[in-house]
Amino acid sequence: MTGSDERRLRWAADLVNTDIMKANLRALRTGLLEFFLESLVGDEITALHSGKPGPSDFSHEDFLHLQQMIKKLLGGLLTGDREGVRVQGNMSVVSPLGSWTDLYLRGPTQDMVLFNIGLLLLKKPHSQIKRCEAKEGSGRCEKLFYRYRGQRFCSRKCTNREMSRRKRKSDREKEATRQRKKYERKVKATHGENVKIQTRKRRK
Ligand SMILES: [Zn+2]
Repeated sequence: MTGSDERRLRWAADLVNTDIMKANLRALRTGLLEFFLESLVGDEITALHSGKPGPSDFSHEDFLHLQQMIKKLLGGLLTGDREGVRVQGNMSVVSPLGSWTDLYLRGPTQDMVLFNIGLLLLKKPHSQIKRCEAKEGSGRCEKLFYRYRGQRFCSRKCTNREMSRRKRKSDREKEATRQRKKYERKVKATHGENVKIQTRKRRK
């Protein structure tokens, strides 16, 4: 799997977490266009968009719909849902320059994005798609993300929040141990070394 493949999968996972209605339409379109441009490099099968809406005509609503489909496709990897996503089926098979060294599929933009994601996932074990387990309120963040290198959580925000939560927990535990030792020293000082000290259950 190349860096380009990883970027494209990460783009798909990031789109799932994007607040589409608040996002800049031009930036969304650029991302989509790049997703297709990068698919032109190196692979034997290339799935390209044709017809309208093309990436540069995509509306907020088109992106919302695409987002739902990608969410279902990637989410299925984690839940084991085998239903998949439905595509229109209006595709053509094209051989570029009359050679069959490469196979081109052409079809509606949304379908071709999903097809491309399917191709990308074939190349990489699905384990790179993760659900964020950072604690958030009484539950967990649960956002889908594409794990890059040793990444543990979906975003810097979640990583920072989780790290400070763990730090607080470890600080609390250290403080509890310190208090406990202090208490033991006091008891031993008043009742002698051999005194039995009750152990208290520590608060989690
Ligand atoms: Zn998260």
